[in-house]
Amino acid sequence: MASTGRAAVFFGPGKPFEIRELPLPEIEPDAVLIKVSLANVCGSDLHFWRGDAPLRLPEDGWIFGHEMTGRVAKLGRNVKTDSLGRPLREGDRVAYTYFYPCGRCYVCLNKQPAACPAKIERPRGPSEFPYFHGAFAEYYYLRPGGALFAVPDALSDELVSPVNCALSQVIFGLREAGLAFGGSVVIQGAGGLGVQAAAVAKDMGAASVIVVDQLSGRLELATAFGADHVINVKEVTERKERVALVRKWTGGMGADVACDFVGFPQVIPEGIEMLRPGGTYLEIGTISRGAKVERPADLSHVSPGQDQPSLLRLGVAQRGDDEDQPRRPGALTAPRAPAIGCADWARPVRPQVRMRHPGRAGSAPRCS
Ligand SMILES: [Zn+2]
Ligand SMILES: [Zn+2]
Repeated sequence: MASTGRAAVFFGPGKPFEIRELPLPEIEPDAVLIKVSLANVCGSDLHFWRGDAPLRLPEDGWIFGHEMTGRVAKLGRNVKTDSLGRPLREGDRVAYTYFYPCGRCYVCLNKQPAACPAKIERPRGPSEFPYFHGAFAEYYYLRPGGALFAVPDALSDELVSPVNCALSQVIFGLREAGLAFGGSVVIQGAGGLGVQAAAVAKDMGAASVIVVDQLSGRLELATAFGADHVINVKEVTERKERVALVRKWTGGMGADVACDFVGFPQVIPEGIEMLRPGGTYLEIGTISRGAKVERPADLSHVSPGQDQPSLLRLGVAQRGDDEDQPRRPGALTAPRAPAIGCADWARPVRPQVRMRHPGRAGSAPRCS
């Protein structure tokens, strides 16, 4: 095996990546070194690359990227199988996680590892062990405790590489949002996550999958992925009309679930307006730290009456000193609501913001 590998090191928005040759790390007994065969550019990566949020990088740069697949280059001596107990050998193709919930904090012990505050770390430079911290490199170091799964040869790298981020996020998020068989969902944004969400929602038995975007090519793709209805905001230019279309396609009620896969918080109030009373808003796309969202002026359709307040249920993965944190995915601040710390494209998904009308016997608002 080679003794070095190359990595594309990021030094900040507007600066060129630099290709660096790095030593391969010593493999800890429970870790796995993976030779990356394909890495995708996720929407989150674009936020970092463009500088949509403050980012403090180590002096020696940062290797980022997280959607990827590859082959086992070297197994730690204790690793004999994949996470399903199937024998694993060097050279095997694998899909694997990128986040490492700690497993011992209060949140993890409450069985919500996706919201573990310890799983999001500050960027680490390529001179820090184990050097290969991200997908944009020839190797990736799967740390002790990282899950990995053998992949059958029938699946191409192109199909497998989005599994650890885009696909797992939408499966987890839609399930957490309570999308049910026969339900309806609005998907705002038909990028990588949005089109996968359309397919997953349909597979979950949604009766009405509505996708909103401004690019017709993306909407065609969303239709191919299972969308029942699409709205092009360039053609239906009035927000009122878009909301009316959603009501029309959901029997006059509004959607059970609406989701942000756009990544800009301006779309959120419109998504909330598209909900039925008691509907759930799922926030996945907006990851930039400091992003603010307007509370919709009128929530009466979601939460009728002052004595029946909306429940804002928040997914939080936040540590105190986040000045150094480059990414606070999902960070939103709403008037009269706590700052939503954020979670992220977690393992397996970013936590979500729910606005839900709790009903008569509704529980008190709480964070989760
Ligand atoms: Zn991603
Ligand atoms: Zn934890």
